[in-house]
Amino acid sequence: MSDVTMIGLGEMGSALGRAFLAGGKSVTVWNRTPAKAAALERLGAVRASTVAGAIAASPVVVICLSDYAAASGVLGEDGVAETLDGQLIVQLSSGTPDQARELKAQAVSSGANYLDGAIGAWPRQIGGPEAGLLIVGNEDVFASAEPLLKLLAGGLSYVGSNIGHAKAFSNAGLAYFAAHWIGFSHGAAICEAEGIDAGTFGEVMAGMAPFFGEDMRHMGRVIAEDRFGDPEATIKTITSDIGWLVESSRDLKIGVEFPKFAASIFLRAKDAGFGGEEPSALIKVLRKA
Ligand code: NAP
Repeated sequence: MSDVTMIGLGEMGSALGRAFLAGGKSVTVWNRTPAKAAALERLGAVRASTVAGAIAASPVVVICLSDYAAASGVLGEDGVAETLDGQLIVQLSSGTPDQARELKAQAVSSGANYLDGAIGAWPRQIGGPEAGLLIVGNEDVFASAEPLLKLLAGGLSYVGSNIGHAKAFSNAGLAYFAAHWIGFSHGAAICEAEGIDAGTFGEVMAGMAPFFGEDMRHMGRVIAEDRFGDPEATIKTITSDIGWLVESSRDLKIGVEFPKFAASIFLRAKDAGFGGEEPSALIKVLRKA
């Protein structure tokens, strides 16, 4: 027996496997393409040649594949259902809340315990203090796995028993990060066009991280308490500022897709009568399709 089995050795699964090994755990691994196990085998992992063998090798099985279809396919392979009774499956592949509910039903029908999770980290951050890992499922089951999962992420958090909520949080976070990646890249294009080094821009923005953190807490509270009427900057003011962003981007002859998209949402909110409210009042035009 080993302490933990890692199913899936892509970029993320390999990082998870390395973190378990670095934490002194014995690790069994399985990957559809066996060659990807070689690096972890050199670090001491044992490669199983079948999924059933991999699952039977450890009481805790962490799955990190491309998506839930792949995870469901792996758990549906010949001989696997018979090995699941009493095992703990920790499923970390990305997907939707409904897919998490369906996979839990599949695992539980074979007698397994099931936790679902969402990773908030790059592979290079796994095992370190910056890595986030949200886990949902039965609280006692989480408590039993917590010391093991803590090896993966300094920011390990249990976020409740609703099995869909890890994926709800990760998709909500992805909405934020989609704008972050596009917005940062657009900002870097402005800097380049003005002769400013993009690395310097990264440092300047990172220095503002405490402001972003405080603002996210503020926005969350304002939305939860439905009190948009006491703004320090209004939707009207920011709509005008984004107009300057569009104009400046045009002047620099860089793409205007992102600033125009942002302007269109702010304008919708202004036209809907929320111009004098907090920027987070944008949610009022985003709630409905
Ligand atoms: P990846 O490098 O593309 O690896 C994908 C893994 O899934 C490989 O092990 C691949 O096996 C396996 N796979 C795909 N389809 C399969 C199937 N039908 N049957 C069996 N195995 C299958 O992806 P990754 O970056 O490791 O990401 C894995 C998961 O972590 C994704 O859900 C991703 O969204 C999530 N995630 C990744 C990051 C990141 O920074 N990379 C961050 C947060 C979350 P083969 O080697 O045989 O192709």
